[in-house]
Amino acid sequence: MSQKSEKLIDKKGLRLDGRKPNELRPIKIEVGVLSNADGSAYIEQGKNKILAAIYGPKEVHPKHLALPDRMILRCRYHMAPFSVQERKSPAPSRREIELSKVIREALEPAIFLEYYPRTAIDVFVEVLQADGGTRCASITAASLALADAGIPMKDLVAACAAGKVDDTIVLDLMDTEDKIGAADVPVALMPNLDAITLLQMDGTLSLEEFEQAVNLALEGCRKIYAMQKEALKARYVNVKEVEE
Ligand code: UDP
Repeated sequence: MSQKSEKLIDKKGLRLDGRKPNELRPIKIEVGVLSNADGSAYIEQGKNKILAAIYGPKEVHPKHLALPDRMILRCRYHMAPFSVQERKSPAPSRREIELSKVIREALEPAIFLEYYPRTAIDVFVEVLQADGGTRCASITAASLALADAGIPMKDLVAACAAGKVDDTIVLDLMDTEDKIGAADVPVALMPNLDAITLLQMDGTLSLEEFEQAVNLALEGCRKIYAMQKEALKARYVNVKEVEE
């Protein structure tokens, strides 16, 4: 992330892809896309294409990792070698290990972990195509996959980043904005509980800019939450039609 950011916003105040500063990228969400997993979801957010799949609750192996009073959540965020312009090694990078942890920590508060002691849930996130903001889109999709698997949850988790490009606070940064822009603030929210489960910052912002970015990101999360609920409803209608 460079400190100097230039020409990411034109004279009309529009961004490289024609969006206004407070506009999300086009989002498409589908729930229950994989028949072999216990729960799954697919999200497209701009050029991002991400699959999330869940297995569990199931017995923990190795057994000594099991907890007597709660379920454990395991998460693997992985980028396909063809997901970025320069082939990515399929081996887990430091970044993927960090993002796996960040995504797990953003999801855990939403799950009634104490309902299933001594068990585990595996969350697999596969980034098929990346264009900035994949950790947030992964959280959005993974929380839907958990709901699709029938895991009792306190709320869904919706995530979105905001940041600063060309001295303007913008919502939902794409890759170029993320890389050339001045700052990026990914946020995850449980909208019904009004609780933040992820807050990170890359780059530099004044206190005022930070507050503006967080508020804009929260606005984005609430819009994404509405789309998550629609996607879940669409899945429910499909299941009902198949059963009838
Ligand atoms: N990226 C890349 N190659 C990599 C890792 C990341 O081109 O090996 C790109 C990808 O588009 C990703 C973006 O850099 O979405 C920003 O990555 P960051 O670590 O900020 O996480 P994200 O914004 O995806 O949550």
